[in-house]
Amino acid sequence: MSGMKAVMETYKRMKIAPTKGKGSWLFDEAGNQYLDFIAGIATNSLGHGHPALVEAIREQAGELIHCSNLYEIPLQAEVAEMLTEATDFDKVFFCNSGTEAVEAAIKLARKHAYDTRGPEKNEVLAFTKSFHGRTYGSLSATGQATYQDAFGPMLPGFVYAPFGDLEAAKTAIGPQTAAVLVEPIQGEGGINIAPEGFLQGLRELCDEHGALLIFDEVQTGAGRTGHLYAYQGMGVVPDVLTSAKGLGGGMPVGAMLTREEYAALAPGNHGSTFGGNPLAMAAVKAVLGVVGDPVFLEEVRFKGAILTNALRMIAGRVPNAEVRGEGLLLGLDLKDPDLANAIFQKCLEEGVLVNLIGGTTIRLAPPLTVTKTEIRHCLDTLRAAVDELVGVPFGVLVPAAEVHSAVA
Ligand SMILES: *Cc1c(COP(=O)(O)O)cnc(C)c1O
Repeated sequence: MSGMKAVMETYKRMKIAPTKGKGSWLFDEAGNQYLDFIAGIATNSLGHGHPALVEAIREQAGELIHCSNLYEIPLQAEVAEMLTEATDFDKVFFCNSGTEAVEAAIKLARKHAYDTRGPEKNEVLAFTKSFHGRTYGSLSATGQATYQDAFGPMLPGFVYAPFGDLEAAKTAIGPQTAAVLVEPIQGEGGINIAPEGFLQGLRELCDEHGALLIFDEVQTGAGRTGHLYAYQGMGVVPDVLTSAKGLGGGMPVGAMLTREEYAALAPGNHGSTFGGNPLAMAAVKAVLGVVGDPVFLEEVRFKGAILTNALRMIAGRVPNAEVRGEGLLLGLDLKDPDLANAIFQKCLEEGVLVNLIGGTTIRLAPPLTVTKTEIRHCLDTLRAAVDELVGVPFGVLVPAAEVHSAVA
């Protein structure tokens, strides 16, 4: 391994160095292979080396890689239409990452409030345990001290309420509120599901106070939950939506979507050199071509249900453990940091890549193309780790055959 000495240590890296991928598998130079159940944190939506994505990028690279937004970009127009046709929105702004999509959403909401109600209406209500990105706008919205401490001052105009607490949101929102920014399922914060009625309640509060409801779907979007966007399975339609991670299947691309009446950004207000360039758009077109298919999305929901059920059986053997999530974005919360870390390490030793969030939760986010055999392989590994570390209490024994038949 070459070592990463010259790279700034902004990540605590595992001692593996994949150089090639195929489907749900990663390979290193030493000949090791890994089952990838984290997929670049919900980013390699089509797995590695998907022929449709590879071909689209290869072909576009030979035609035109970059073209300035000084000009019309036909492929950008086409992809924007694919997105608007598949959602409740009419306008798309393209950028290159999740944090930029959130920045664009915050600027859009403030501009809309400024245009319609004046400069006093500029506050953004966000939530504890949220994660919206690392640049100053989205960092200011991220309601976790660990990300913000040492980087202050944050941008003014951000307030927080506990995620899931509608009463607290009601107290925090007012005529000064330009936007409410929320992840429909909190990703980095631990795969936290909003309690029943919370998102609907925020929708009503936004309507009452003339604030825009922004769903940050950077992690939950692009088919991850078995819907193209998670909101489509929740019965609550936001005014603004952010997307990135899985949208380009690994190509750096982000998007901010809104409705015509809120599309307050005018020429000169905002921009991005790379945003929506032909190479990125070719990737998004290929991803949407696969992920936008209702049959594919149904399969994601089905595989998610299989994984969830089997994980619940495993969780049943660990006191207080629980499984949270939707589709193929799942968290196994072991409630015990030592146990979670030990299981994580065991998986790594066995060549199964997952990741640990919030100290106690193992996050699973395999490629959306993952096969049932691969799901079984991951479950076998997790189950063996739990067997070894927790033991198999008499009477709660779940025979392997039973888990297998649930997965079959
Ligand atoms: C990952 C993530 C971001 C930030 O995305 P980057 O591409 O890393 O800037 C923002 N919001 C959510 C919900 C995320 O999961």
